[in-house]
Amino acid sequence: MSEKFSTIRQVIGSMSEDDKRLVVEHMSNQFIHQDEGKNEYADFGVEREKTPEELQIIELINIETNKLLDKYGRQPFDIPTQKVHIVDKEHWPKEYNHDVVSVFNLYGQFTAVKAEHASDRLEFASLVYHEVLHLKSHLALEAEKTTEEDGTHIKFRGYRAGISIHDRQDGSKVFLRNINEAIVEELDKRFVYDVLYKNDLVKDELLSSNNLKKEYGGWGKIDDDNNYFIKKYPLYDDKTYPKAIGFGYETERLVLNSLIDKIYSANQDKFQNREEVFDVFAKAMFDGNILPIGRLLDKTFDDGTFTKLSHITETQELKIFVDAL
Ligand SMILES: [Zn+2]
Repeated sequence: MSEKFSTIRQVIGSMSEDDKRLVVEHMSNQFIHQDEGKNEYADFGVEREKTPEELQIIELINIETNKLLDKYGRQPFDIPTQKVHIVDKEHWPKEYNHDVVSVFNLYGQFTAVKAEHASDRLEFASLVYHEVLHLKSHLALEAEKTTEEDGTHIKFRGYRAGISIHDRQDGSKVFLRNINEAIVEELDKRFVYDVLYKNDLVKDELLSSNNLKKEYGGWGKIDDDNNYFIKKYPLYDDKTYPKAIGFGYETERLVLNSLIDKIYSANQDKFQNREEVFDVFAKAMFDGNILPIGRLLDKTFDDGTFTKLSHITETQELKIFVDAL
């Protein structure tokens, strides 16, 4: 890995090339010097130490996500284990919403998982895989140089994460985020069933999950498509209850899968199978080039479909739009 490496692949904005290089260098320092626990973007002074099995899981995640980088035309690289933080809910950084169970940070280029959700290896692995995929997606920043009373500053904000794009006028608006999350979770699903389920690291969890399934057969919403295992979970009293742990972004995945089905059935002469259509979306998430998705949508449906679809930020609205295609 080169000295200047960072997961940020591009810096845009009306700055000189020299100033952009400063941003790249800053990001590279963030990525390389991560072993201090503390970093500029969140305080992880009280993170929990990782077990040897958790370190093995992170290694497995690097191997599997590197296969994807290679498949979709990118240079493989590892996310250092120090960049996966396990933090209990009392010490969850205040910068982050308390309802989320895991996050990735574009600037600090790290991921964090709530310790309560790292208590078993299956859930830990699935959450870290999801966040590592975000970090290995196409990432870009928008930077600008401003002069204030106390001097000149370079400010930056997220511009691209995978296929999602921040509106340059209104930074709070993010296009294609729902489809991007669906791609990540669909890849997570493939990882859980095709790789993790076959790995001895999660043997105990799977055994206990299968026993719970037998014991509570008809309980709750246990379907293999969305829930990958059952575990005993502490609830409001001292007792533990069986809980199905599922993949995230269910509606977003429904939308993406229905879009893929429609594209595949209209283009069977161009694709061997529906996975090849999924590949068009996944490739764009890694290499950042969304034009192939745009061309495919506009050719399959009407001209302008892609632009319309990317501007729908609300997921239910997007579902209605895709259903009507
Ligand atoms: Zn995500």
